[in-house]
Amino acid sequence: KIQTKEDVLEAVTEYDVKFIRTQFTDTLGMIKSWAIPSENLEDAFNDGVMFDGSSIEGFTRIEESDMMLMPDPTTFNILPWRPSEGAVARIIGDVKLPDGTPFEGDPRYILKRGIQQAKDMGFTMNVGPELEFFLFKLDENGNATTEMTDYGGYFDFAPLDRAQDVRREIDYALEHMGFKLEASHHEVAPSQHEIDFRFGDVLTTADNVVTFKYVVKSIAYHKGYYATFMPKPIFGENGSGMHANQSLMTEDGKNAFYDPDAENGLSDNARYYIGGLLDHISEFTAITNPVVNSYKRLVPGYEAPIYITWSDSNRSSLIRIPATRGMGTRVELRNPDPSCNPYLAFAVMLEAGLDGIRNKIEPGESLRMNIFELSEQEREDMGIESLPGNLKEATDKMKNSNFVRNALGDHVFENYLAAKTAEWDNYKARVHQWELDTYLSIL
Ligand code: GLN
Ligand code: MG
Ligand code: MG
Ligand code: MG
Repeated sequence: KIQTKEDVLEAVTEYDVKFIRTQFTDTLGMIKSWAIPSENLEDAFNDGVMFDGSSIEGFTRIEESDMMLMPDPTTFNILPWRPSEGAVARIIGDVKLPDGTPFEGDPRYILKRGIQQAKDMGFTMNVGPELEFFLFKLDENGNATTEMTDYGGYFDFAPLDRAQDVRREIDYALEHMGFKLEASHHEVAPSQHEIDFRFGDVLTTADNVVTFKYVVKSIAYHKGYYATFMPKPIFGENGSGMHANQSLMTEDGKNAFYDPDAENGLSDNARYYIGGLLDHISEFTAITNPVVNSYKRLVPGYEAPIYITWSDSNRSSLIRIPATRGMGTRVELRNPDPSCNPYLAFAVMLEAGLDGIRNKIEPGESLRMNIFELSEQEREDMGIESLPGNLKEATDKMKNSNFVRNALGDHVFENYLAAKTAEWDNYKARVHQWELDTYLSIL
């Protein structure tokens, strides 16, 4: 396992790596990357790599455009789909100002701040995400379509199915890059798949989510398909989520969410953590469900959550507690989708949970029934609230949230809201196909 810069330099020689793709993500979670020749890598570890941050949308102001990327040796990985002679590797870095101080617009830094807060309280966070995606056909010009690649369903097994072959190729590539896969299966919708990799500490997992999407897309493309993490590409079918299984570990390596003496095996900390998530969820939905299309997934009938409830059994809840106890005790948050920036999404989840613990926020009763079968009146009587219904509602909630402002810091908070407000304004002004279909001929 590669840990230090010496390990990396050794691997570069051993595997004949010619170029290193250095990477970070912008506020919206897009990978920014450029290649440096491997001869320059040692200098990069020592002095960082300079780049112009002003050309990255919403990242910096012109007057502070000189930025530096400090590569993190633990993230070094050889890209399996490139030739092994003159191989290509990638490395993720931290964005710094030229004097070496962390750049507060770097999502990885925002997550590291959250990790530090957890540490101050005696905790480290583990996350296991479940990413879903669609595999579609490319057209003759190599552009993405929404044309299906199979008509399978949940857990279907079709040995001769070419799309399943592609998923297998993706599995191999991920394993080659050090991912430990837990499950890889067809999902409910046609052409929809899910691959789960093993949980890990939250920083590694956020890096892994970024890498995962990049590997899935690359392998699919090499095989003549298009992989998309768009939350709801097809009306009338399930969308793609990114359930986030999360837990806190104590300093002595115990699961802080497990209490064998409690009635349901959940510790006070687990309950308060859930309380914190439920309390702040609407304020940070714009982070976990960041695009206009995210809200087309959060509608009744497609296994995606809408109501702000938790349950130790029922999957219709926003938060579900899987049955495992002991070290595997965890909280599954089901609204996030894979279009989110994982650094920011995990940071707000963690900080919401910590806030719950700090303030002993009770989550209320666990809900055992299917909420979707209740009437609106019954839900109202029970005080069950809904997630924001669209990106506009979500950004409005976020705008007024001191909690999210503190979790993200002013720089990311302001830039993020500006980008999302522009996105909504752009969307809202357009005439959509549905309007033409509905109104053109009758009005
Ligand atoms: N695709 C569903 C969602 O949008 C989840 C389905 C499942 O994993 N059971 O969250
Ligand atoms: Mg799953
Ligand atoms: Mg699933
Ligand atoms: Mg799940």
